[in-house]
Amino acid sequence: MKINLSSPDITQAEIDAVVAVLSTNQLSLGPKLPQFEADFARYIGRKHAIAVNSGTSALQLILQAAGIGPGDEVITTPFSFISTSNVILMVGATPVFVDIDPDTYNIDSQAIAAKITPKTKAVMPVDVFGNPAGIDTAYDVATQNNLICIEDSCEALGSVVNGRKAGTLGLAGAFAFYPNKQMTTGEGGIILTDDDQIAALCKSLRNQGRDADAGWLAHARLGYNYRLSDINCALGIEQLKRVDSFVAKRSQVAQWYQQALADESRVVVPTEPDNCRMSWFVFVVRLQDQFNAQQRNAVIDILREQGIGCSNYFTPIHLQPFMVEKFGYKLGDFPITENVSQHTIALPFYNNLTQSQVATVAEALTKAIDTATAR
Ligand SMILES: *Cc1c(COP(=O)(O)O)cnc(C)c1O
Repeated sequence: MKINLSSPDITQAEIDAVVAVLSTNQLSLGPKLPQFEADFARYIGRKHAIAVNSGTSALQLILQAAGIGPGDEVITTPFSFISTSNVILMVGATPVFVDIDPDTYNIDSQAIAAKITPKTKAVMPVDVFGNPAGIDTAYDVATQNNLICIEDSCEALGSVVNGRKAGTLGLAGAFAFYPNKQMTTGEGGIILTDDDQIAALCKSLRNQGRDADAGWLAHARLGYNYRLSDINCALGIEQLKRVDSFVAKRSQVAQWYQQALADESRVVVPTEPDNCRMSWFVFVVRLQDQFNAQQRNAVIDILREQGIGCSNYFTPIHLQPFMVEKFGYKLGDFPITENVSQHTIALPFYNNLTQSQVATVAEALTKAIDTATAR
């Protein structure tokens, strides 16, 4: 048996679209780029979409275009993928962490104000695992304190909180298209903003600092090559057409898990929060607090031995070796993040997972917990 942790959903339409680009003379900076961007801006409901080569690049360019740099502080969460705080470091600013809400795993909005200093420039909340709960409150706290809000919505394409789509809050938001995300371009990311100046700067920065109507060898500023090729964009255009059906399929798989694990009281099973439409990125259960990290690790090992893909989402960012070395963080600094991180198990989760595969995983999980906790 082999059940992957994640798996992209590629049909003949995607294959045909990619192959068609290969027989043109425009593998990059061709017509697929503006088409993908226009389709995406329309889907999300923002004025500008700027496609780049990764979600990390998208977030970095937003920070840089917003003028965030050395001496500035950006408030964010330690319970996220490493990119969230890496991009803050990449532009020379300092990440300032706020612990999470134990129910949503998102930044605790109530705790943001206490971390604001004269150096604080921005707040960067993350819709963790696709859950947008409380992102709007974090945005409100940022605006009330005259701070920029940048949304790391890389895990939440299609999520909605209180009627507002993930990626539409704040100055700009970012999505990512690595193959485990809701939709993929192979590698890729996109910036969403209503701000003309931010959009123009991001476009220039991704393209070696070229201005819109200047020549190929005219570089107005220091820039990068963060372009997304037309091959990737063609894939993205096809995936985006199907994204609402992806959200629906994932919601169905999540429901199957919730039903299959309803009687497994040793794990906390994620649910869709009130006032949110959840676009599920991963399905992460949490062992109850009475179990320890060794037992959680044993559960993961047992499942993997059976060919069931699973993972410990996430290791706290502040405890990654280079963060400890740079900032002197230690265990106990962000206790909720640390506790959640010691108990989580991401289960196989993708569009075309079947109900019987879900049942197999749920049964294997129960047996693995039996074994791991009997030791
Ligand atoms: C996936 C992801 C990113 C961006 O990842 P890339 O691999 O650079 O595309 C950023 N933040 C979060 C929270 C993510 O999950």
